Amino acid sequence: ERQKLAAGNWKMNGTSAELAEVAALAETHANAGCEILLCPPATLVERLAQKADGTAIAVGGQDCHWEESGAHTGDVSAGMLKDAGASFVILGHSERRADHGETDEVVRNKTKAAWAAGLTAIVCVGETLSEREASNTIDIIKGQLAGSLPTQATGLNLVVAYEPVWAIGTGKVPTTDQISEVHGVIRAQLEKRFGPGVGRSVRLLYGGSVKPGNAAEIFAVENVDGALVGGASLKAADFGGIIEAL
Ligand code: 13P
Repeated sequence: ERQKLAAGNWKMNGTSAELAEVAALAETHANAGCEILLCPPATLVERLAQKADGTAIAVGGQDCHWEESGAHTGDVSAGMLKDAGASFVILGHSERRADHGETDEVVRNKTKAAWAAGLTAIVCVGETLSEREASNTIDIIKGQLAGSLPTQATGLNLVVAYEPVWAIGTGKVPTTDQISEVHGVIRAQLEKRFGPGVGRSVRLLYGGSVKPGNAAEIFAVENVDGALVGGASLKAADFGGIIEAL
């Protein structure tokens, strides 16, 4: 049985003032039936981890470098995130792929670095609108999985997030049939590549315009083990509503 995961991605949002939301969430969801994760900007990882210490909330980064240390101005390593209190890191988010030209190979190397530091990697895949309209969704997803995932995946070190690019921050959500199709393909690919035991134990998140009002319907889809939430993770009340739907 895969433990459900409600993951919040704050993206480039949040300063010390927003740490109050963490305290509120910890208080209202001390006994949630799922794992709760918040991924703040790098500047807040350590302070958020301190706030979350002793609560049900885990902390993650939003990206890391593929090397352990060195001359990479502005970058943060997986070991640094771990040292700051993180246990997860989001990798290959479509905004990283678009803003920073991250390729599948880069994402794969970052995933290896995350594992070497003892972090669980949340590797993101997803098609653009033009790719969906050209009926290329399944090929794109298969290609991203093959290229972005290293061979040593386990149910503990890997989570895969399906985030259709056209659903991120748009209020547009795929139909439950569309989510079911892609999550089914991801599950089958993981089982084929890593074996049925590992393939069945990796958690699959859906991400893209998840809100308290649509969460229950999305979570009822087979092979959806939780959500990767952007905008609605910034307020404890909204994220709390999603957690309750899990
Ligand atoms: P929204 O929930 O704001 O659509 O963002 C989804 C996302 O990109 C999470 O990583």
